[in-house]
Amino acid sequence: MTPAAGARPRPPHPICDTGTTMPKPGELTFVAPGGAKKPPRHLADLTPAERKDAVAAIGEKPFRAKQLSQHYFARYALDPEQWTDIPAAARERLASELLPELMSVVRHVSCDDDTTRKTLWRLHDGTLVESVLMRYPDRVTMCISSQAGCGMNCPFCATGQAGLDRNLSTAEIVHQIVDGMRALRDGEVPGGPARLSNIVFMGMGEPLANYNRVAGAIRRLTDPEPDGLGLSQRGITVSTVGLVPAMLRFAGEGFTCRLAVSLHAPDDELRDTLVPVNTRWKVREVLDAAWEYGERSGRRISVEYALIRDINDQAWRGDLLGRLLKGKRVHVNLIPLNPTPGSKWTASRPEDEKAFIEAVAAHGVPVTVRDTRGQEIDGACGQLAAAER
Ligand code: SAH
Repeated sequence: MTPAAGARPRPPHPICDTGTTMPKPGELTFVAPGGAKKPPRHLADLTPAERKDAVAAIGEKPFRAKQLSQHYFARYALDPEQWTDIPAAARERLASELLPELMSVVRHVSCDDDTTRKTLWRLHDGTLVESVLMRYPDRVTMCISSQAGCGMNCPFCATGQAGLDRNLSTAEIVHQIVDGMRALRDGEVPGGPARLSNIVFMGMGEPLANYNRVAGAIRRLTDPEPDGLGLSQRGITVSTVGLVPAMLRFAGEGFTCRLAVSLHAPDDELRDTLVPVNTRWKVREVLDAAWEYGERSGRRISVEYALIRDINDQAWRGDLLGRLLKGKRVHVNLIPLNPTPGSKWTASRPEDEKAFIEAVAAHGVPVTVRDTRGQEIDGACGQLAAAER
């Protein structure tokens, strides 16, 4: 075992910059090089049919699978003591086989009068990931991670700088939400008990690079209770750098989540540098795949565009963006760049931002600026990044 990545701190979260969630000295983690053991199998990794088989395989009655699902997905009851409909003798065995502890909270950090709460999680192998819960007067959004780290290497993004640790399992993705729903129900977030309204895959990682597990997680989130959490695909946003084959697969498999495309430049020359995967799939191909998804799913596409001073914020680029998107069912989300430590880049000047917006809007394309202080950051976690490998 070697100390994780030389205890290199990750830069802060680009949007909710609440101070560090980095581990304190006693919390330093160890990760085996190359990503370590597989996460333990968990109920949330399995389809309802697979759960029955798994329960039968350890000599229990198949209907116990439904009972466990009820406890996990409908009651968020993780403690076997609470499973009073299951004989005490069977509870521990079922818990260790199907509901092992996947992750533990290292720390919560809050901002915006505690209505934004980041959670730093430690996974079974010591890997750290974050999720964020954002409470607004009328809704609650959670921003979750699909990978530990990210392999896409976008130079302005904190997570991209540290590389990919590993994919999260379906259950590791789902559990971030289950815990958030439990915390909301139990009144742990100021404002009284509440229900979760939206989920955005805008934390660490590129969700479409972990396609099967993310697709499985969406099924678990949206299957009716008690097979899943009973949420609506309409309230889930998957954000991608533009992995075209995975976008087309997503469209072909009948998903109806919202899709956000991190464009950040309308021209290939600049996008090749800001979103390096553009050297493989060009702006035109990415947008065509997005329109295909939009048609199949019936959803309006979100185009994400981080405004970076003097890099991608020229009015002519706004005009080009408007021309590319004109007439499509699309909405542009401008995100003022949240500079990462050591970065030479920063957010645009107000006058440049204004001219950029006007250039886009001149084509009749809806465009809004995300408020990075927390009121209007729906879908905009940016990268969860204060964790340390
Ligand atoms: N990998 C996915 C999802 C993660 S990030 C994707 O790239 O879409 C969610 C959004 O935050 C992306 O649009 C990403 O480009 C953006 N983002 C990352 N770092 C940022 C920063 N420093 N400032 C503003 N937006 C950022």
